[in-house]
Amino acid sequence: MTEPNKNTHWKVKNLNGTTGLSCGCGSWLAHWRNYAGSSRKICAVKGCGRFATVGAHVKCTDNRTDNRWWIAPFCKTHNHYSFTQEVFLKRDVKLVAANRKYSCE
Ligand SMILES: [Zn+2]
Ligand SMILES: [Zn+2]
Repeated sequence: MTEPNKNTHWKVKNLNGTTGLSCGCGSWLAHWRNYAGSSRKICAVKGCGRFATVGAHVKCTDNRTDNRWWIAPFCKTHNHYSFTQEVFLKRDVKLVAANRKYSCE
């Protein structure tokens, strides 16, 4: 198995202080499911097997995208404000834009 790299896995960092933001989907996790077309139940972080409980706001840190905010399904631990490490996401996870302009109607 090869190590994750920017061609195979998204590298992201959890963003803090985004709790107040919301969209019309009900929750950011619902938002992610709507736009990713996925019913994934497990956290998107590579190697994590806990249930995803939130749609976390993340930034892509490998310069493949602009500074846009993205949503990915995270467990409580990985969405915790004290968790600020960069992490790789599982290979099959899509990032969904958090900005209504790009997604929600
Ligand atoms: Zn939405
Ligand atoms: Zn997790």
